[in-house]
Amino acid sequence: MSDPLLGAQADPDVLAALKASVWEWLEAVPDPEIPVISVVDLGIVRDVEITAADAGQALCCTVVITPTYSGCPAMRLIADEITAVLQDKGLPQVAIRTQLAPAWNTDWMSEKGRRNLKQYGIAPPAQQVIDIRGISARQQVAPQVQCPHCGSMQTVCVSQFGSTSCKSLYQCKDCREPFDYFKAH
Ligand SMILES: [Zn+2]
Repeated sequence: MSDPLLGAQADPDVLAALKASVWEWLEAVPDPEIPVISVVDLGIVRDVEITAADAGQALCCTVVITPTYSGCPAMRLIADEITAVLQDKGLPQVAIRTQLAPAWNTDWMSEKGRRNLKQYGIAPPAQQVIDIRGISARQQVAPQVQCPHCGSMQTVCVSQFGSTSCKSLYQCKDCREPFDYFKAH
């Protein structure tokens, strides 16, 4: 029996299929700080590389990740989690490469990630929208944010710092509920 994970049999089709599977598996790895979002939906997984090894050797899978901010303490945890999941799927050689440039920004968050965040009660980050004064949503100190509970736009920023420094605390004037806003940057 030939093992498709061994380099000797690694034809391009096998490598492409394996790469697609790896992306799928990574979608099941949650972000440690916001467990409703996977590392893929958060946009921190930048690339997956499968490199064929010498004949008879196992393939090596390299996952390229960009932290949400430099020095993010959760990155070690994320790297371990990714390695464990992929090894569990039968990939013996997993490498994690951290790429700092270009820096992660909130526009890399997927639509699914934004939806999940909203369902979790956190207003998703404003996307790079330029308003009439030529100021981008990311540059605004307190952009207009939709209430994740009732959908009202009648909200006010209560504090620039919410439960963590990457969030601000808002309150809805309609349903009165306070909520976190994931700051755009
Ligand atoms: Zn509301």
